[in-house]
Amino acid sequence: MRNNAVIVFTIFMLATMSCSDKKPHQQNSPFQKLTPIEEKYKPLTIAEFEPQGWLKEQLRENLDGFAGRLDTLVPELIMDDRIYGEDRLTKKVKHKNVGALGEDGDWQVQFLWWNSETQSNWRDGYIRTAILLKDEAHLAKLQDYVNYILSTQDEDGYLGIYDNDLRYNFDNENGELWAKASLLRGLWAWYEYTKDEKVFTAIERAVKNMMENYPVNNSQPFYSKQPNVGGTSHGLTITDVLESLYRVTGNESYREYCLFLYKDFSEQELNESAQYKKLVNDTLMLTSHGVHVYEHLRSLAAAYYASGNPELKIAIDKFLAKINDETTASGAGVGDEWIGGIKADATNRGYEYCSIHELMHSYVELFIKTGNSQYADKVEKIFLNAAQGSRHPEQNCIAYLKSDNSYYMTGGLNGDTSDKHQTRYSYSPVHQEAAVCCVPNAARITPYYIQHTWLKGENTLVASLLGPGTVNTTLNDAPVQVSAITNYPFENTLVFNVTADTEFELKIRKPDWVTTYTVSAEYQDESGFIVLKKKWSGKETVTIDFKPEVIAQRDINNEVYFSYGALVLASPIASVEERVKTFPIPGFYNLHYSPKSLTIYEYMGEPVRLSDPTSLRFKAMLWNTGTKNTEEVELIPMGKTILRQVTFKEYSK
Ligand SMILES: [Zn+2]
Repeated sequence: MRNNAVIVFTIFMLATMSCSDKKPHQQNSPFQKLTPIEEKYKPLTIAEFEPQGWLKEQLRENLDGFAGRLDTLVPELIMDDRIYGEDRLTKKVKHKNVGALGEDGDWQVQFLWWNSETQSNWRDGYIRTAILLKDEAHLAKLQDYVNYILSTQDEDGYLGIYDNDLRYNFDNENGELWAKASLLRGLWAWYEYTKDEKVFTAIERAVKNMMENYPVNNSQPFYSKQPNVGGTSHGLTITDVLESLYRVTGNESYREYCLFLYKDFSEQELNESAQYKKLVNDTLMLTSHGVHVYEHLRSLAAAYYASGNPELKIAIDKFLAKINDETTASGAGVGDEWIGGIKADATNRGYEYCSIHELMHSYVELFIKTGNSQYADKVEKIFLNAAQGSRHPEQNCIAYLKSDNSYYMTGGLNGDTSDKHQTRYSYSPVHQEAAVCCVPNAARITPYYIQHTWLKGENTLVASLLGPGTVNTTLNDAPVQVSAITNYPFENTLVFNVTADTEFELKIRKPDWVTTYTVSAEYQDESGFIVLKKKWSGKETVTIDFKPEVIAQRDINNEVYFSYGALVLASPIASVEERVKTFPIPGFYNLHYSPKSLTIYEYMGEPVRLSDPTSLRFKAMLWNTGTKNTEEVELIPMGKTILRQVTFKEYSK
């Protein structure tokens, strides 16, 4: 609302403004577009990757497991609800099974977007997994799905979950943008694989429809009369789709829309820690729903690159510092499910599988934008340790919530039984008692890792994340193939077979833990990268040998943990397994684990040695707090454990 004083002030400012036409009050706006920044690297398409080795095996296990079969494990959430088509949400729906929602009257139909997330995040992971494995049977099934989704698109381009009476017209929690973000990410992967222009056009039209109905700088997509929203704020990740469109078309309006969305998100009254004003307030820790916070990091980064505004760079730096306070030894960001303004803790704070994926994806985007290898180190740490360590090492199931020090997986955090309904600290292929959110993200994370193992720069091919696999791409319009033959991170020799007849720069990321290494060819060492710039001819081989050592590191609470190369180590705890549910499909169970006997160890300053290089077993002399004696304890990579101790308090007499 305006008052007379404001009008007088405005007239005064207009009268005194110089011909430069700069409005002083806007100069300091963090959302003002200055000079947009070019991203350092570009992602390749998923069609250019051929996974191998353990990464391929993991994709196969997932595809034969929850990633390929979630629709038959929870048919009521996927097959029976055509939420983007015949079952779109409308005010006419007066009765619906609302599951965990409250009594009649305290919910609105627009809230019921959950199945769109379950379906679309799952399909995104399923699509990418089937493409990477070139699995014809699954690809045929997915082609039918894509055909169906395209058939739901309205004349005006609308793709989404709301009927005409609800869409783009909300004053409260809703899933308009979120249902699109999760859907279009999967369709984008399908487009990259098939190069089907129909799919590209469908995505473009859906985004145009959104931009027409929520006009840039002239609408409020994040307005909600009550500040606790879920789907609404998840919707900020539509920036993923906008950035993909920008990267392919070069159309700046897609990036500018990212800036607008982050601005509107920041200006509304929402309980969200990633809002600009909260990020730059050093007295505020992160408090809100973890997965929102970690995914919003990359939406802010998109807004910064779209604007070039240094105020947003400051916000990113402060955001990263706040995330650091919530980060455990395994690289995960805590939140169970709220971050709650409490720092990370290896024993007393859990992290959600959704957050593991979203934080990893945000670090991937920061690496693409900046080329700064520290972000790729974070990606590797979280994927190779937190993500692997929350995935069951032998069975088809994952933990919804997990902690680095994991002493019980029986529902509550480390055996806590105060909340009878807490089931998240356990293993399941669905986790339907809580929400089917984490399993879809467990299907997404491995393909997302694989398809960012290589990136392109100006006449440069970058091995950004390390692991076995082949990339087939072009540089200078000439075909280039590079195969990484390795069992990284379980072995640290990487053989790169390069097949090309053109000049380009091959950049291989040198992980942050590397101090000693050899390269079989002439190279430059450039800020975290091994760089080979030359005219490549025929088939050439470059062998790199990283020489890891066991390092004693400290988490944010000064507890000690051990790493060997990219792997965080753990003392495994022998456990008793209990099948608490058997699914109609053979081999699928909900599983609980209790320790056979629980011993907590402390660190005495003794070195840890590699005792078996083949199976990666280590020996540590630790203090047994039960027997009050030193004891030789075996450590293994935490990604291969169920119950475990990862961090060790320092022993003091
Ligand atoms: Zn989740």
